[in-house]
Amino acid sequence: MKENVVVYWMSRAIRVNENPALVQASEIAIENGAMLIVVFALIPDFPFANTRNMDFLLRGLAEVSDKLANRGIPLFLYQGYPVEAFDDFQKEFRIITIVNEHHVLKPFLFSQEKVREWCLYQDVDFKLVNTACVIPVEEASSKLEFAAKTIRSKIMNKYKNYLDEIHSDFSQTMDTSKRFKAGEIEVLLKNYPHLTRSRLIPGEDAAHQTLNEFIALGLENYDQRNLFDAKGQSYLSAYLHFGMISPVKMIREVEKTNHRNAPLFVEEALVRRELAENYCHYQKHYDSLKGVWPWARETLQLHLDDPRDYIYSLEQFEQSQTHDELWNACQRMVVEQGYLHSYLRMYWAKMVLLWTKHPQDAIDILIYLNDTYFLDGRDPNGYTGIMWCVAGVHDRPWFNRPIIGLIRAMGKDGTLKKTKFDPRRLKYDI
Ligand SMILES: Cc1cc2nc3c(=O)[nH]c(=O)nc-3n(C[C@H](O)[C@H](O)[C@H](O)COP(=O)(O)OP(=O)(O)OC[C@H]3O[C@@H](n4cnc5c(N)ncnc54)[C@H](O)[C@@H]3O)c2cc1C
Repeated sequence: MKENVVVYWMSRAIRVNENPALVQASEIAIENGAMLIVVFALIPDFPFANTRNMDFLLRGLAEVSDKLANRGIPLFLYQGYPVEAFDDFQKEFRIITIVNEHHVLKPFLFSQEKVREWCLYQDVDFKLVNTACVIPVEEASSKLEFAAKTIRSKIMNKYKNYLDEIHSDFSQTMDTSKRFKAGEIEVLLKNYPHLTRSRLIPGEDAAHQTLNEFIALGLENYDQRNLFDAKGQSYLSAYLHFGMISPVKMIREVEKTNHRNAPLFVEEALVRRELAENYCHYQKHYDSLKGVWPWARETLQLHLDDPRDYIYSLEQFEQSQTHDELWNACQRMVVEQGYLHSYLRMYWAKMVLLWTKHPQDAIDILIYLNDTYFLDGRDPNGYTGIMWCVAGVHDRPWFNRPIIGLIRAMGKDGTLKKTKFDPRRLKYDI
């Protein structure tokens, strides 16, 4: 007789610590006297996969696989579509439940839908668990929110109810010898376009260390973070993107400090971050002009024929070949480091609106650059950040100007003054 198994299909939370999907899958396994296995599917042709983001992902996954093996839980890496993986596992085991994380972006929703259909056909339970937000997106708000000010009180009134630490001691006796191991990574990376690796160390141990360093050193400067050299940022975005750290743990630990800058961090890492999740969840056109507020669409439409001083192609942008040394310096950091200082990200995006023929071209170019190069790319924060810059999402109308109409303007002088960044610098440390 085939053994009953619960599958945790891991995709958005590459961690063992404070992972509600792992906890729920363990509980279902215990209730049903079933074994627990974890499966990660490397979906072919996944958008914007390259050696930079895949190296970070796979090394984090290998760490998780070793940690789970200590508890007798095997983590299998499957190269192919998730339904093919489950078809294969069904030959060896009897899958009773598949647990996956809640997603909001289209490439994952597509895969989830296929798995949901497969589960119906196979009479397998399918469960989704929030791992990416402090408050599950639909519990935070039941509708598309207009701006930070419309969601802030909804989040701030209830987030403390979600800050409890969760933990699972689940362990079992199961053969884990076929689990995914770090030794397989180099061969797997040969399948992807080459980009240099980030200097950030992948994995949940490194994520916790980054949080601890931020609390010890960076938080004190968080109110100065617009200054390029203030070292006020947390550098947690890539860890959050890959789910290598629990957002609940992050907020809890920062709040525990009672530091005067903790509320500023909570505004970004809780309110703004979960507003971005809200936008991508409720607005399926999060990547096009169809998904912007009517005032912004109208103003951009009215200015479509305004003359542009410069129009650049994707290749010119990608190769830092604009007339603007500040923009080119930003783009070199994007390509070389996979990270850009938060304030400079706004300048970097807003100029692309000025230097393209059509706002949708600006959105498409920015998504390509953002998601190819940023280690934290392919994330709701990225789509929302781009739409804020180019099309006023979550923002309000400003003063009428050529090309950008009522969209908030940003200038080179203001940016240099605010960040005190020197674009002629050749070396930037993250
Ligand atoms: C054009 C543009 C593109 C962006 N692309 C991405 C992206 O692809 N991925 C990504 O994670 N963020 C993106 N952001 C948001 C923000 O710039 C980054 O999250 C931040 O710079 C990451 O650095 P950090 O973790 O050191 O930030 P910190 O200042 O330390 O912030 C802590 C956390 O708060 C969240 N956060 C901070 N600022 C914002 C914001 N404006 N909106 C939503 N959440 C925020 C992030 O999760 C971040 O990790 C983008 C912003 C813009 C304007």
